This record gives sequence, structure tokens and C-alpha cells, in this order.
Amino acid sequence: MMKIAVLPGDGIGPEIVTQALRVLAVLKNEGMEMTFTEAPLGGQAYDQYGHPYPEFTQKVCREADAVLLGAVGGPQYDNLDRPLRPERGLLGIRKDLGLFANLRPANLYPELANASTLKPEVVAGLDIMIVRELTGDVYFGQPRGMRVNDEGEREGFNTMVYKESEVRRIAHVAFDIAMKRGKKLCSVDKANVLETTEFWKEIVIDVAKEYPEVELSHMYVDNAAMQLIRNPKQFDVMVTGNIFGDILSDEASMLTGSIGMLASASLNETKKGLYEPSHGSAPDIAGKNLANPIATILSVAMMMRYSFDHEAVATRIENAIKKVLAAGYRTSDIFEEGTKKVSCSEMGDQIVAAM
Ligand code: NAD
Repeated sequence: MMKIAVLPGDGIGPEIVTQALRVLAVLKNEGMEMTFTEAPLGGQAYDQYGHPYPEFTQKVCREADAVLLGAVGGPQYDNLDRPLRPERGLLGIRKDLGLFANLRPANLYPELANASTLKPEVVAGLDIMIVRELTGDVYFGQPRGMRVNDEGEREGFNTMVYKESEVRRIAHVAFDIAMKRGKKLCSVDKANVLETTEFWKEIVIDVAKEYPEVELSHMYVDNAAMQLIRNPKQFDVMVTGNIFGDILSDEASMLTGSIGMLASASLNETKKGLYEPSHGSAPDIAGKNLANPIATILSVAMMMRYSFDHEAVATRIENAIKKVLAAGYRTSDIFEEGTKKVSCSEMGDQIVAAM
């Protein structure tokens, strides 16, 4: 039995999650055993419970095997005290569930190659997975702060630190994913300058001994940033720490030019995951049935692959999306002359039919 927590969230969240649930309903009707429990997160939760990650939602998420999230946030919440803002709900759930591995695919369907700012031949067919460590690095290292130094000058300081266990567990996630894909892994570091990442590299090389089939390479982060623009198709899986991953995963996602198409997953040690589109709550188009539900539906495919080990089901969902794109259906964000413009729910209809 797959226990799935469903958090529609704010803005376009409920619209896109509705379409993703229709895809899951197809699987359930065919006999896959799953339960859905809905709970509020973000602004929606603040409105109902006065907190962006209320106890009810915590309970539902802790008891679930996987969590499907729409998006959180909206201008009406921008003036709330920081701890009550919708994004705090996201931080709360990540911490609560121990989600340390962030998986951000950047893939570009050949039909959408014109949406990228790069030349179509550079990006068409792009299929990269960036694995970013999410709970360590300079973002969390202690000590940190601002102070007056011994010379009497003000300064800011942070600590870049990774424990061996933290590097090992993210390396394992990345190698496991590489095994499910093209068996190529590039570990990104700055080992020429930063001891923390020299250490990172050493541990990754050690973990590699357990994965003889995976071809491991190493790249400095500045070069990786260049190579992602110059020749992104050279990469299969990339693994890196929190701060480099933050920057590189955003860079990689923009290679595709279609924010409505990009899924993401954050996993913990038991493979429980939070699955959500990479985009936000798009308040400008919320409630208009205009949003592209594909990123959310691709997140469901990731859920099947990474939390439930149903590779064939994941591929089936991805193939249904490919088929619908090949047939020319587009929501307005990816619309081009000569294609057929559809609403959010009509895109859902097409994908369900293609399943
Ligand atoms: P956004 O991703 O919501 O929107 C950026 C632009 O992309 C908008 O023009 C929007 O209409 C468009 N867009 C986004 N998703 C789309 C989709 N599925 N289909 C069609 N068009 C889509 O980013 P933003 O405008 O910077 O932020 C809006 C709100 O979302 C803010 O409150 C922000 O804090 C929040 N946010 C939440 C998350 C999250 O929940 N993980 C991530 C980023 C931003």
C-alpha cells in the first residue's frame, strides 16, 4: 500500500495537483494500492490553522510514504512575520522529514527545444539529473555570523563543513540514481581551493568502489558552470554540495526554458520523498485554468521511480507526456505557432487519455 500525502498549497497548486491526482487515479483504478490524505501547507495552512506547517499536516506527512506538493506562497502572505510565511512551511517539512537529497532533473523534449535561450542543437534531447545535498555545507555550518574582528573592522563569516557520513549518504543516492540512468556520474567540487570539497572528492572516490559499473568523473564548479552552457549533453548525473548545487541546479533548469516542465524530489534515508514542481505558485495565473500541470505530473513519475521503485510506471507516465507533446498539445507557457493551445485541465485530459 502506497500512502501518499497530498499538499495542494497556494496559487496554481490546487489546479496542478488535481491533474496529477487524475494520473494517480488511473493507476489506482487499474489495481495499484494507494491512499491519499490531503493536508494544507503554506499560506493555505496559515489561513486554516494560523501556521504554515501545522501539526495536522506534520502528522499526515510523517505517516505517509511520499508527499505530493503543489506550490506555496502568494503576495497576500508577504507581510506576515517571517516564521509564519508560506516558505517556512517548506523549510519545516524538509527538516521534519530529514530530506537531505534534492533531485532536480533538467530535460528538454525535442519538441520544446525552441523554448531554450541556447541553440536547439545544444539542448534538444537534454537529460541531466542534478543531485544536491540539502542539509549541510556553508548554509548550515557553525560558527556563522557577523562580528567586529581583532583589528576593529566589521566582518561576516560562515563555515563550510561536511561530515563523512553526510558525503557518503549523498554519494550513495547519486550512484544509485546513476545506476538507474546512463551510469555516468560527475562529482562537482572546488578541491583546488577548498579543503571541505577536497574531502568530499576523496569520499566520493571511496564510495565509487561499490559501484564499478558507474563511470565517475570530477569537475571544478567554475568549469561545471561553463560546461553546462557549452555542452550540457555531456552530463548524465551530477552530484554536489548544497551551495554549488543550489546554483548549478537553477542554471541547469534554465537550459530548458520551460519552468512549467521541471519536476523535483527531495529524499530522506528511507527513500521517503517530497515531490513537487520546481516552479512556484504563479499567483499571476492562479485560478484561471492556465497553468502547465506537466512538472507536477512528472513529479508523480519521480515518486513512482524513487520512493516506490516502480520504474515501468514512471516510464509510462513520462511516455504519455511525450506522446501528448508530440501530438502538438501545449499549455500557454509553452505554446508556439502551429501547436494546439490547451488549458490546465485539458492537458490533464490528454495525458490521462495517453496513459
Ligand atoms: P513562479 O515560479 O511562481 O512564477 C514565475 C513565472 O513563471 C510566472 O510568470 C508564472 O506565471 C510562470 N509559471 C510558473 N509555473 C508555471 C506553470 N506551471 N505553468 C505556467 N506558467 C508558470 O515564481 P515567482 O513568481 O517568483 O513566485 C511566486 C510565488 O511562489 C512566491 O510567493 C514565491 O515565494 C513562491 N515560490 C514557491 C516555490 C515552492 O513552492 N517550491 C518555489 C518558488 C517560488
